[in-house]
Amino acid sequence: MKPTNSIFSACGTTIFEVMSRLAAEHGAINLGQGFPEGLEPPALLQAAARAITEGPNQYPSMMGIPALRQAVAAHAKRFYGLDVDPAAEVMVTSGATEALADCVFGLIEPGDEVVLIEPLYDSYLPIVRRAGGIPRIVRMEPPHWILPREALAAAFNDRTKLMILNNPMNPTGKVLDEQDLGFIAGLLARHDAYCVCDEVYEHLVYDGRRHIPLMSLPGMRERCLRIGSAGKTFSVTGWKVGYVTACPALLQPVAKAHQFVTFTTPPGLQQAVAEGLAGGDEYYETLANDLQRRRDRLAAGLTSIGFEVLPCAGSYFLSADIRALGFDGDDVAFCRHITVNAGVAAVPVSSFFQNGDVRHYARFCFAKRDEALEEALARLGRYFARR
Ligand code: PMP
Ligand code: GLN
Repeated sequence: MKPTNSIFSACGTTIFEVMSRLAAEHGAINLGQGFPEGLEPPALLQAAARAITEGPNQYPSMMGIPALRQAVAAHAKRFYGLDVDPAAEVMVTSGATEALADCVFGLIEPGDEVVLIEPLYDSYLPIVRRAGGIPRIVRMEPPHWILPREALAAAFNDRTKLMILNNPMNPTGKVLDEQDLGFIAGLLARHDAYCVCDEVYEHLVYDGRRHIPLMSLPGMRERCLRIGSAGKTFSVTGWKVGYVTACPALLQPVAKAHQFVTFTTPPGLQQAVAEGLAGGDEYYETLANDLQRRRDRLAAGLTSIGFEVLPCAGSYFLSADIRALGFDGDDVAFCRHITVNAGVAAVPVSSFFQNGDVRHYARFCFAKRDEALEEALARLGRYFARR
């Protein structure tokens, strides 16, 4: 038999699927894969049920239904002061994952260099490689995850076409400030490069912080493609409704990729998300406050068990140093071990790195029901007290 595609054939199954399957097999509480529980807004669910019942349920326009594109543009104005033309600068996708792939396929040529920051979300690299891009990976180091400015500057050159920037970041929980964003903006301008801004956690920022889109910095409007996800903003990750905002010259080639990847996204879900985005400020504030409270509960519980928990400014995730627990093995072995033996699943942070020595952090998702967090902490507490 002839060999299948070498890049995808060489990939393992994504760690999120692996850990969720293992959790289900062992009846473990799943704090691994990043999805929320019990936070879905009832009005959004009702809006979707109504829209699906009333229809239409046929192919919508490939760019997305007008109501959602207008809602995405109005949201960008309301939260970030960005002026966006919904007819020419917004496209709806089947989740941020599709948007990321469309952007890479639509923007780069084989041989173009793409700058990425590690730890990184697992879909980035295979898609860049499959599109013929040459990854230039810059590492952030724990425990402070400081933007390595020198290494980042050294990764850019005349062949750099694109950067992919996740902010707020998964799995580190870091939120880049205006100074770091300004530094990145300077590099993009100097090297005439574009930036795919994966901002799916834009509304999940804590302690009074505000998310700043790179696109809102001077000179960045024409260089950035901003990606959002209703899965994260409305706690419905299974819906897979995402959106890309970019100037027409960048959005057009990305739309050409989208038309051959998924073409459209379920119209009833788009309608519900359009209504959700128009919700009052209190929706967004309550979501962040709720998650902040869960973050604090999980962080305090893990600390009292003996984990050393890293700070988290945004996202769904806490990273915890496992070394103080005296486990003999790396983070992969640890996460499997606690799933099977303690009944709590987590994700090893090393799976966000290509290789290297960061093998002692487990990532826990705190966007779960209070009872699930309490039970997970009780299980871990009992398990580590016995050892
Ligand atoms: N980017 C990051 C950083 C993520 O953590 C996720 C997780 N779901 C995605 C993209 C994908 O989002 P979606 O489910 O909308 O495809
Ligand atoms: N983004 C989620 C996480 O980091 C999972 C998404 C997925 O399963 N592909 O856990």
